[in-house]
Amino acid sequence: MTISERSDNRMMNGMSVDVEDYFQVSAMAPHISRDKWDAIPCRVERNVDLLLKLFDDHNSHATFFMLGWIAERYPGVARRIVAAGHELASHGYGHLRATDQTQDEFLADIVRAKKILESVAGVPVVGYRAPSFSIGHANPWAFDSIAEAGYHYSSSVYPVQHDHYGMPDAPRFPYHSRNGLVEIPITTVRAFGRNLPAGGGGYFRFAPYVVSRWAIRTVNEKEGRPAVFYLHPWEVDPGQPRIREANLKTRFRHYLNLTRMESRLRRLTSDFRWDRIDRAFQVDLN
Ligand SMILES: [Zn+2]
Repeated sequence: MTISERSDNRMMNGMSVDVEDYFQVSAMAPHISRDKWDAIPCRVERNVDLLLKLFDDHNSHATFFMLGWIAERYPGVARRIVAAGHELASHGYGHLRATDQTQDEFLADIVRAKKILESVAGVPVVGYRAPSFSIGHANPWAFDSIAEAGYHYSSSVYPVQHDHYGMPDAPRFPYHSRNGLVEIPITTVRAFGRNLPAGGGGYFRFAPYVVSRWAIRTVNEKEGRPAVFYLHPWEVDPGQPRIREANLKTRFRHYLNLTRMESRLRRLTSDFRWDRIDRAFQVDLN
């Protein structure tokens, strides 16, 4: 048996990228007003291209949840994502948390993003991820709106305890939420009687890589389930301008280990098999 045949037996996992730029991150929002966005130099194009190359090197595919704001300004990025065989999905228009919007505002935002992405890239957009995993017990109506807007699935829940997001008691694996919409949560691992993050975020850069590898292996091999991992283009960009106004905790989380991210991602893409969420979770979506 050759190595490539053997590697085909490994479980297929879902890889995802939330396409927003460094100054659009929710934790930075209090320090950068939205009307300044157009005046700030974007780094997203360079960083998405780097990720496209990285996934291509490792024969992997991913789902790119892109902001409508980015797709309007960088339509070529959306088209290159599609041309390389990845799934184009929606991260809403302007990176407003669902929890900061009324149901009407939320619906308008996600309908607008879907239209822009589909017209720019010429493909149907069926997946949606809420900015900062901002769907929880306070706003279960968001699932109704996502279905109403015509999306087939959401990947908006991280079942962990975190100061900015998280729904620790949500199911850990794909489930039908309101309106029959399929929710595909970010992966956690059970340890010490709680859900620990295993699907990316600051944790992936903070803890040694072997912790993430152990966590994903545990989910794949002991639980027999595929994992969902996520990252942002700015995480592979150690040269991004620093936002000095943010507080120490935000800066620590945002800038930690950026120089190590690309090599860690290369290990992650070698150690596991990755595909677009719509393909890796085809069973749950049908
Ligand atoms: Zn985001």
